[in-house]
Amino acid sequence: MQELSTSIGEAQGSKTSRSTILGPPQAVAAALRTTLGPNGMDKMVVEQNGTVIVTNTGSSILDRVDVEAPTARMVTEATEVQAQTVSDGTTTTVLLVGELLNAAESLLENGLHPTSIVEGYAKATAHTRERLQEYSTPVSEHNSDRLRSIAAMTVTGRWDETATALFADLAVSGLQSADFNSSQLTLHAHPGGSLDDSEVVDGIAVDMDTSSTSIDVFETPELQAFSNPRIALVDAEISPGDTDVSGKVTIEDVEDLDEVREYERNNRSAVIQSIHELDVDVLFCQKSIDDAVQTTLSHSGVLTVERTRQDELDAISRAIGAETVTSAVDLDSGSLGKAGSVCQETIGGAESLLVMDCPEEKHASLVLRGGTPHVSDEINRVVADCVDAVRLALRVGSVLPGGGATAMALSRDVLRYADSIGDREQYAVKAFANALECIPRTLAENAGRDLVNTLVTLRNQHHDGATSVGVDESGELRDMRKSGVFEPITVLDACLGNALETSALVLRIDDVLESGSESGGEHAGHDHNHGQGGEPHTESDMNGYPWALSH
Ligand code: ADP
Ligand code: MG
Repeated sequence: MQELSTSIGEAQGSKTSRSTILGPPQAVAAALRTTLGPNGMDKMVVEQNGTVIVTNTGSSILDRVDVEAPTARMVTEATEVQAQTVSDGTTTTVLLVGELLNAAESLLENGLHPTSIVEGYAKATAHTRERLQEYSTPVSEHNSDRLRSIAAMTVTGRWDETATALFADLAVSGLQSADFNSSQLTLHAHPGGSLDDSEVVDGIAVDMDTSSTSIDVFETPELQAFSNPRIALVDAEISPGDTDVSGKVTIEDVEDLDEVREYERNNRSAVIQSIHELDVDVLFCQKSIDDAVQTTLSHSGVLTVERTRQDELDAISRAIGAETVTSAVDLDSGSLGKAGSVCQETIGGAESLLVMDCPEEKHASLVLRGGTPHVSDEINRVVADCVDAVRLALRVGSVLPGGGATAMALSRDVLRYADSIGDREQYAVKAFANALECIPRTLAENAGRDLVNTLVTLRNQHHDGATSVGVDESGELRDMRKSGVFEPITVLDACLGNALETSALVLRIDDVLESGSESGGEHAGHDHNHGQGGEPHTESDMNGYPWALSH
């Protein structure tokens, strides 16, 4: 069990000690160190309500534990940014912050001013980010193998090897079917069935079980498949009344009632007539459709789908080039779109409508299967990360050798660069170079290798120009280009940027002051709400963490 918290309350009355400020982020890094890389161990996080989560992703661990010390919370925030922007590299960022602050502690003891340290770190970071491209290898849509290894690497350690290969394959095949545009690829997770039943389906799959309902469409054989259908998209309720007017109608006698009925009948007829005149075959509505309208349309062979999910409606709109109108009476031939076909299929155990061969955008759906909802959701997240990694790699068009190879190469670069800096910042630049070595070092450590030997050999090989040598899965030193271990440039770039920003923020703090304004009680000054939507913490939080870290 490891205690990460350092309560700022303890320092009340005196100036906060340096270790109280710099210590917590390092403690977070120390806790996550064992999770890095292909041999990373998992952490079991026991939530206050007893839920147990086993994960080795830096951001999901930090998401779930109470990080109370304010400077440790800055690290948590950095991982959130990292996860949101590039979906990977969170542990790397945390480790770098830990190393940079650890080095800063010695520099401070030796009399260096925090500003010089921050300046030195900033110069070194800028230097490394400029050089990333130099170590990269091109990647294109045609390198399926390379794309698969990028996808697999990004989810390293989150599932077994066979499943990881399958996730990577699904992500790449899905993207291939969607013209490598991730916005044209929709992920659907369906519990039940085995992972092997997951598939890539060409077209937009509209899930009829969960997101949409339609009266008995599947029992009507003529409504099961349309070729070249004319499709209408409506964003509002299709009801007999005027939905734009809110108010009450007071009915005083039978004649009034008749009038209302007549009005509704007319409205219904107007909608039905306009849909018939426009020769609409399929009508997708984001809200509900009046039963009578739906029945009449179905009997005349129009497939009506109500409560279509907004994202599905948007995807269909883009794919077929149809305009989504806000009222059924606004439909005209210009707002309609056409697809190659719309048909009913059972996809991943769920009744679905497939909109295929769309003229404007090629669409694909990745149907993922997993035993329980929990498993299928996690599979969804893993595959989404694979898709993201491939997207990021293709956006830049080049990738970096992983396994700590690039970090090592950059470390040596920065060391050389330090010589060109004359003033005190040079010490900080050198410290930054050392900090970068924590990536290959931790990978070797987690693979159970002899650290000194591995690092010395690695340094020597890099010295001899082998800049793509890194630590492989078994802890051996190998050329990562040959082993196919690649990661998107954007990920390492974001790690470096976030690590600098976070350590600079922490280093600029010289005191933590408690604001007593919130409440006068026992826990005055503690911010009980961690982040947006955070639950207020109960008293037991204050004594540490309700979770065990296994080392
Ligand atoms: P992060 O949260 O930083 O992404 P990970 O646990 O995913 O942490 O580990 C990422 C590190 O592991 C990167 O440095 C990456 O190069 C390395 N890595 C991932 N897969 C492999 C592999 N198959 N062989 C060697 N290194 C790998
Ligand atoms: Mg990762």
